[in-house]
Amino acid sequence: MQAVQEYGHLIGGEYVPPSSGEYMDSINPADQTVVAKIARGVAADVEQAIAASKAACQAWADMRPLERGRILTDVGRALRDNMGLLSRLESQEMGMPVEAAAMTLGTAASYFEYYGGLAPSLQGETIPVGPEQHSYTVYEPYGVVGVITPWNAPLNQTARSIAPALAAGNCVVHKPSEFTSVTALVFAQIAVKAGLPANVWNVVTGLGAEAGDTLVRHPDISKIAFTGSVRTGQAIGAIAAEKVMTVTLELGGKSPDIVFEDADLNAALMGVLMGFVGNSGQVCLAGTRVLIQRSIYDQFSKMLADTAAFIPVGLHNPFPTLGPIANKDQYEKVLSYFEVAKEDGATLLAGGEKAEGEGLENGFYLKPTIYGDVNNNMRIAREEIFGPVGVLIPFEDEAEAIAIANDTEYGLAAGIWTKDLSRAHRVAGKVQAGQIYVNYYLESGVEHPMGGYKKSGIGREKGMIALKQYTQSKNISIKLI
Ligand code: NAD
Repeated sequence: MQAVQEYGHLIGGEYVPPSSGEYMDSINPADQTVVAKIARGVAADVEQAIAASKAACQAWADMRPLERGRILTDVGRALRDNMGLLSRLESQEMGMPVEAAAMTLGTAASYFEYYGGLAPSLQGETIPVGPEQHSYTVYEPYGVVGVITPWNAPLNQTARSIAPALAAGNCVVHKPSEFTSVTALVFAQIAVKAGLPANVWNVVTGLGAEAGDTLVRHPDISKIAFTGSVRTGQAIGAIAAEKVMTVTLELGGKSPDIVFEDADLNAALMGVLMGFVGNSGQVCLAGTRVLIQRSIYDQFSKMLADTAAFIPVGLHNPFPTLGPIANKDQYEKVLSYFEVAKEDGATLLAGGEKAEGEGLENGFYLKPTIYGDVNNNMRIAREEIFGPVGVLIPFEDEAEAIAIANDTEYGLAAGIWTKDLSRAHRVAGKVQAGQIYVNYYLESGVEHPMGGYKKSGIGREKGMIALKQYTQSKNISIKLI
C-alpha cells in the first residue's frame, strides 16, 4: 500500500513542518480513504508565514506592473500544464468528478491570465482643481493580505482571490479549508517554479478557529478576503471592525431562479436543474429556490422531477455524473434537511434520500432532490442547505415573483427565464442580488463581477472591480508655486 503523503505549510516555496508537529487527515468523500495529511497550523506557523511574506512584499509591490502581470500569466499557464495532476487531486479531496474539476481549474487558470493582463491597467486619475494645484490619485496595495477559502471549489476560489490580490501588488498568506488544502499547497509550489517570487504567496493549513483566526487578528494583515459561511464571515467582520481592517466577504445564498410562462421550457430545464444539482448543490450561487409561474407549474415541475431521476450519481459513471457531498459534516447537514422538509410539509418530487448502489457504499452520495408545493416561509426555502436540493415555489405574476425573490436574507444571484426582453430587464432591475442570469444559470466568466447583497456578503470578486478592491487609493495634491 502506498504511504499517504504528508504536506507541511508552503512557505518560501518549500514545505515547512508544523511547529506543533501535528498533522490532520484529508479524507476522500467518495470512499472515506485518507488522501493526504496536512499540517495543523497554529499561531507560530501563521507568524512565520506572515513575516516571510512581509519581507518579500516591497519588492513585489515595486515591480513594474507589466512584469508582475507577465509572471501571473506564466502562473496561469503552469496551472494548465499541470491540469491532469491538479484535477485528480481536487477530485480526490473534494469529490467532484475529475472532468468537473478540470473545468473549475480552467477557470482558475483564467483568473491568473485575466488579472495578469489587467495588472498594468491599474491607473490613478488626475483631478482637475484649477491651475494652482496638481492633484492625482494612485492605487497602492495593502501589503500582506489574508485569503481564507472554503472547500466547494477549492482551487477555483483560491485563484479568484489570489490572482487579483497579487496583480495589485499585494503578498498573500492563504489559509485553505481544512477539508481541501492539497491543491493549494501543490499549486502554490508550482507557481514558484513558474516564476512567482518565493513568499509572495504562502499557504498555512489548519483549522479555522486556530490558523484562520490567528491570520485574521494579526496586526500585519491589513485586508482579509474571505469566502465561506455567513457565521464565519460575521466573526471575521467583528474582528475587522475591532482592527478597523478592510474585508471582502463572499458568503452564502438562497438564490431564486424565476421561470415565467413564456420561457422556452426545454431550454430552461437543464439550466434550472443544474443550477441547483451541479457540483452536488455545493455552490454558493446555486439557484435553489425555483419560482415557477402557476400556469406552467405542473408541467415544469414534472419535467424537472422526471429529469432529476435520470441524473447519474457516482464517480464510477461516465461524466456528466454527480460526485459525493464533500465531507461528512455537510453530508449529515443535508440529510437533516430531508427531515426538515417533512416537518415543513413540502411534497417530495424526487430524491430525498441517500444514493445507494455499487460503488457508492462508502461515499457521501445523495440523490438529486426536489420538493414541490413549497412556500417561501418554510425552512427549506429560507435556509442554505448546500446540497443537491431544489425547492419549487409557484407564483401568479411578475410582482409576486419579485416579492418572493427578494423575501430572503440573502442576495447573491438570481435567474430569470423569459422570452420577453422588457420583462427580463424590468425584473433584473428589481431583484436584490449581485449577479443576475437571464436565460441561463451559473456559467459565468472571470470578467463578471460577483458578490452579495444583504447577508451574502460585502464587496465584489471577479472582473475589473475586484482588482481595485485589493488596493487603497491615495490622493496627492501639490500646490504649484
Ligand atoms: P466556513 O465558513 O466553515 O469555512 C470557510 C473557511 O473559513 C475555511 O478555510 C475555514 O477553516 C475558515 N474558518 C472557519 N472558522 C474561522 C474563523 N473563526 N476564523 C477564520 N477562519 C475560519 O465555510 P465552509 O463550510 O467551508 O463553506 C461553505 C460556505 O461557503 C457556504 O455557506 C457557501 O455558501 C459559502 N461559499 C460562498 C462562496 C461565495 O463566493 N459567495 C463561494 C463558495 C462557498
